[in-house]
Amino acid sequence: MGASDPVPDQIIHATIPGEEVRLLAGVTTGLVAEACRRHGTFPAASAALGRTLTGALLLAMMQKDLERLTVQFSCTGPIGAVVATADAQGRARGYVKNPHVGSEETLLRGEKIDVAAVVGGGMMFVRRELGEEIGLAKQPYVGQVEIVSGEIAEDFAYYLTKSEQIPSGVSLGVYVQNTPEQIAGVVAAGGFIVQLMPGAGDGLADSLMEVLAAAPHATEMVRAGMGPLEMLRTALRRDDIEQVFAREVRFECVCSREQVLGMLAGLDRETLDEMIADARGEEVVCPVCNEKYWIDIDTLRGLAAG
Ligand code: ZN
Repeated sequence: MGASDPVPDQIIHATIPGEEVRLLAGVTTGLVAEACRRHGTFPAASAALGRTLTGALLLAMMQKDLERLTVQFSCTGPIGAVVATADAQGRARGYVKNPHVGSEETLLRGEKIDVAAVVGGGMMFVRRELGEEIGLAKQPYVGQVEIVSGEIAEDFAYYLTKSEQIPSGVSLGVYVQNTPEQIAGVVAAGGFIVQLMPGAGDGLADSLMEVLAAAPHATEMVRAGMGPLEMLRTALRRDDIEQVFAREVRFECVCSREQVLGMLAGLDRETLDEMIADARGEEVVCPVCNEKYWIDIDTLRGLAAG
């Protein structure tokens, strides 16, 4: 792999032998860039969406029997909402309610991207779905906390500490840069979570928090070409961190043309007749990935007749 090749998207679960800590880290540059390209996000929205996607993937990695995990920020700031879903297959998808928030020219003017300003206050929800047991969907677990920072990483840390009662340090970052190919393109994204498990001594807690406070930012390490394990070793300044398992991750939605046709088939006859009467066809846009499905007039007529 050459020096200029991007680090592939991957999330790892790691530990320190003999210590009661849980470590998660990931590089998510490719999938965050794809999400932001699809939604045409301005820089502040790119950062909010990318941090939330990365945080959702890290949280999903914490639990082995998890089917799907969704993080939603319902916010009072101009972005309106940030939603990200990660599943057991390593797929992530998400969107923001208003992708054109903050200034598009932020980077050209050399200003810092202010994520908290576009997120504002509100609530953060985390929904864990555990899949099926003897054919029945298990009851999902939903946790919620108020948004305390709006910078996203601090909100994940607050959620984990308060709602799940696991003291956690969280770093999430998205680096947006003007490149020859793209204005305000995502060139690095990633993050890590350090959690103290029951039985961790106060001494370990104090030393880890001290080290974390001085750790380089996640995007700095991703831009330097580090993978997730190297990020953790660098951030915590320990060589004895060991990877427990790794998962390739990617941007992938669950929408399909079949699903869109099924949705249209479920509409009442009157609505379908209106579509047929005033158009050559109907464009249906997936709100999660912004994929556009064009349903031609003959297909609409077929659905109405069926
Ligand atoms: Zn979709």
